[in-house]
Amino acid sequence: MGAITRKSPAEIALMRRAGAIVEEIHNLVQEAAVPGASTAELNAIAERCIERHGATSNFKGYHGFPSVICISLDSEVVHGIPGDREIKEGALVSIDAGAIWDGWHADGARSFVVGEGSPEAKRLVAVTREALDAGIAAARPGATIEEISGAIEDVALRAGYGIVRPYVGHGIGRAMHEAPQVPNYRTGRKSLTLAEGHCLAIEPMLTLGSPEVGVMEDEWTVVTIDGSLAAHWEESIAIVAGGSTILTRGS
Ligand code: MG
Repeated sequence: MGAITRKSPAEIALMRRAGAIVEEIHNLVQEAAVPGASTAELNAIAERCIERHGATSNFKGYHGFPSVICISLDSEVVHGIPGDREIKEGALVSIDAGAIWDGWHADGARSFVVGEGSPEAKRLVAVTREALDAGIAAARPGATIEEISGAIEDVALRAGYGIVRPYVGHGIGRAMHEAPQVPNYRTGRKSLTLAEGHCLAIEPMLTLGSPEVGVMEDEWTVVTIDGSLAAHWEESIAIVAGGSTILTRGS
């Protein structure tokens, strides 16, 4: 993954512009994700948003990925490919979106339930976001990556959810995926001590049942082996004096 770099305030400002586009994509796509909408239509909305801003996509073409967002439904965890499939009432929808502004990347994911949905699905979505927020709250100068991981793990385990382990958060900046990795569980290993300018994408993926996952025949879509629901939340953040600032939320 290469060296761990620290970004200047000017560089973080560019990442925040990319992050604002990611947030706008999420707002537009979530609003359009009504029963009967096709996942390809949602991707088109995201693509138009990126073009309108004069930004570029970090997802499309990434190892051959065909779309600007990932749409993962119900038991799909991450990396679902938009296409003919339609959004259904009650679906648990996970959207992962990214954008590049002037060479700087942002990456963020949201999960939501369409319409009423089940209480179980809604709780999974809420707790996964809570785990993300706990991880972000642990991110500050002098803290370690392991502390972020532990904060996420504690929220997930307290709720009785599975933690998907093969996919983890990451550094972000000039590339979408930079060092270090940010696991959603304690590793027990020595980890980076954070300093101002470190930028991370923190992204817990939690499941209602077994945390075991596999990859579908399309070689992208990651699903739970037992078919249980999964949720995914992600924000890109920068470490600043006294804490962190979220680059993909609240622009
Ligand atoms: Mg990511």
